[in-house]
Amino acid sequence: MTACPTPKPAPRRPLAPGSVAVVLGTRPELVKLAPLIHELGPATRLVHTGQHWDEAMSGRFLRDLGLPRPELLTGVGGRPRAGQIARSLGQLDAAFAEDRPAAVVVQGDTNATLAGALAANARDIPLVHVEAGLRSFDRAMPEEHNRVMVDHIADLLCAATPGNAANLRAESLAEERIALTGNTVVEVVRGSLPHAAARAHLLDRHGLTADGYVLATVHRPENTDTAEALGAVLAELDRIARAGTPVLFPMHPRTRAAVERFGLDGLLERLAVTGPVGYADFLGLARHAALLVSDSGGVQEECTVLGRPLLVVRRSTERPEAVEAGFAALVAPGAELGAHARTWLADTPERLARLAAAPSPYGDGLASARIAALTARLVEEPAAPLLAA
Ligand code: UDP
Repeated sequence: MTACPTPKPAPRRPLAPGSVAVVLGTRPELVKLAPLIHELGPATRLVHTGQHWDEAMSGRFLRDLGLPRPELLTGVGGRPRAGQIARSLGQLDAAFAEDRPAAVVVQGDTNATLAGALAANARDIPLVHVEAGLRSFDRAMPEEHNRVMVDHIADLLCAATPGNAANLRAESLAEERIALTGNTVVEVVRGSLPHAAARAHLLDRHGLTADGYVLATVHRPENTDTAEALGAVLAELDRIARAGTPVLFPMHPRTRAAVERFGLDGLLERLAVTGPVGYADFLGLARHAALLVSDSGGVQEECTVLGRPLLVVRRSTERPEAVEAGFAALVAPGAELGAHARTWLADTPERLARLAAAPSPYGDGLASARIAALTARLVEEPAAPLLAA
């Protein structure tokens, strides 16, 4: 496995304009790929499958993260999984046949990730997988299947952590395809967090006091597909609010639909409910929360950069690093969530002081520079071992 090249890898000859297709389709991919897209600069050809394609989940992220205008696929959003993958794959194949990229980059574990990877594989185009090697070992999660399939066909596996690299080795993936890069989340959080005065203004707008509120997000099927699970999460958030700690709840569209479907509106009355907020606002609000409650993958990483405690409302995680480093704990949606929240809120100052001093397990903020250099290397010399990069 390639060790982290330090310091920042030497710049290479610039790649041809538009030669690296970056395929994405959802909010977390826009966030995590933004710093890499900036590193690749004019070489980027951004392709958006349209899985998340509204202003709240995509439009403002493209703008706020300074991303180039993407090529947009059609008819993908709102379909079941196989339909999303099939619609994306057909269109990507046609686009790559017409204008062949020198490399394709995908990130994570979404249907867009798998479609982009299959499209590259079908035309024998070098494939880069950002955030390779994550494993929840939970075969009930479609994302687990997506990430395993993509890892096994990628040419360059960018493992964010030593644990991710170990997962790849355990599946006998070739050593020379694996690079330990760190996670791009570090640089995107550092680059997008509003400065202190803007954060103070943001908290004022929401009527919140620093270190005095809970910020909660849930949207995963395991928490939104049944009235029992969603009701259990919301009842505990309601209890926290009733006990006097404000709870800000930016609601994902899937969660809003589930609340309406199950008639759970009554449990929202004491919560400060908003729609999804923009990325800079979300980071600013998370930075000063006494406690984060979420089932999001990205928030499990961001909490380690922001130094905030997180209760992860999930039965398994593909990101054990935040738990191992003391930032997070996995909890079940009902009483376990409530009990943990009460304990952690009771020792807020000590916990926040400890976490502020703890390093993030996700690297040094140079992941995107490494991935861009390794991608350039892959394009120039596809057969060369990564160690020479
Ligand atoms: N996020 C945001 N606004 C919100 C809620 C979340 O910008 O109102 C960001 C969050 O900081 C993280 C990303 O969205 O970077 C996570 O997206 P999501 O939870 O949809 O996906 P996951 O990370 O679970 O794959």
